[in-house]
Amino acid sequence: MHALETAAVVTVGTELTTGHRLDTNGAEVARALVNAGYSVREMVSVPDDLQAIVAVLAELLSRRALVIVTGGLGPTHDDVTREAAALVVGRTLMRDPAVEAALSARVSVHRDPASAISLLHQADVIEGARVLPATTGTAPGQLIEYAGHTLVILPGPPHEMRPMLHDVLRDRVASAPPVTLKCVGITESDAGHAVLPLLTTYPTVDLTLLGGPGEVDVILVSTTGDDVELTAAAHAARTALGDACYSADGSSLAATVIDIAIEREESLATAESCTGGLVAAALTDVPGSSQVFRGSVVAYANETKSAVLGVDPALIEAHGAVSEAVAVAMARGALRIPGATLAVATTGIAGPGGATPDKPLGTVWFAVAHAEGRTTAEMHRYGGDRTMVRDRARTTALDLLRRSMLDS
Ligand code: ATP
Ligand code: MG
Repeated sequence: MHALETAAVVTVGTELTTGHRLDTNGAEVARALVNAGYSVREMVSVPDDLQAIVAVLAELLSRRALVIVTGGLGPTHDDVTREAAALVVGRTLMRDPAVEAALSARVSVHRDPASAISLLHQADVIEGARVLPATTGTAPGQLIEYAGHTLVILPGPPHEMRPMLHDVLRDRVASAPPVTLKCVGITESDAGHAVLPLLTTYPTVDLTLLGGPGEVDVILVSTTGDDVELTAAAHAARTALGDACYSADGSSLAATVIDIAIEREESLATAESCTGGLVAAALTDVPGSSQVFRGSVVAYANETKSAVLGVDPALIEAHGAVSEAVAVAMARGALRIPGATLAVATTGIAGPGGATPDKPLGTVWFAVAHAEGRTTAEMHRYGGDRTMVRDRARTTALDLLRRSMLDS
């Protein structure tokens, strides 16, 4: 067991501190660090200002085992991260002949000799640094070991930064990466109550709850790097969460549904009104879904529900399109899709119009029908706007498919 290493993330760019660009690198780098077993203690954005960058880097590098910086490595006058890093570690910048040769090919496209000269600045490497070659862009990244700490500078464009980040983290300690238990059909506070007692049983484990629309992620992190205790805590948490927890390896809900369907040899279909194909889209987003997904009917108009799915118009007349009876008839109708053995149906009021006193906005009826004759139905009421209602309905429909396969 070794202590958890600490890290900090710095993103450089005036466009970030003015709010003209969203800092996606910060989140991406932090997530990769956490997954590699680091404890990220700071995440800071600074403008393209030499003194500001020097001050932040000097401070963080003195405290953290690893500091990762992105941005400001380009050829223009405002790109000063390389110079700032050199000042912080007190070393000089030296032109690297290999990097210069690689850049020279690109220099020829510039007509203005001044831009060619500034482009070649990207071949300046801090004394003793390991060069992280650019696979897609122009500026290489650099890794500098300094007084037992590591400073890494990476280019700003996410597609250039990403391969270098993974290159750097590949051979770094990956002690006790966090475990994410993905849950659905449970509130954030119920999930919290289920797992909170574990903090006493496993004192080296820390918990984060991350609520999303209809889903909760329970994230367990080791505070000491002890894999054994983290694994035991994750096992206990999974038991405490029961059926609500659908994956411990990062798999999405749709991917989990596909996996279970493959295992149980079920073939899936959907009949969607208010979700308009969102459930089918989520299922077909999963590679390999063609093994078990047969198709979908988006039955938006009542006439479509009757003509294509065979829903009796009298049923719609008597109960309304948003009703248990119609949801069940839609799910049964989806089983007409050749080969389908398990179907889910959605019919609801996503808003903003269409609400009635007994069927308020956000009312959605769901039904699941199995070719062997079993059917179940349930009603949910969601808050929020049209997008939120439709997103939550998609999640519930996927979860009902999942649960119906677990019960069988
Ligand atoms: P180059 O100038 O060679 O492209 P660079 O390292 O100088 O690389 P920047 O000039 O800082 O990178 O940024 C280039 C582009 O990269 C920005 O316009 C922006 O689109 C993107 N970018 C930079 N930093 C971030 C960030 N933190 N999050 C998301 N995108 C970023
Ligand atoms: Mg910049």
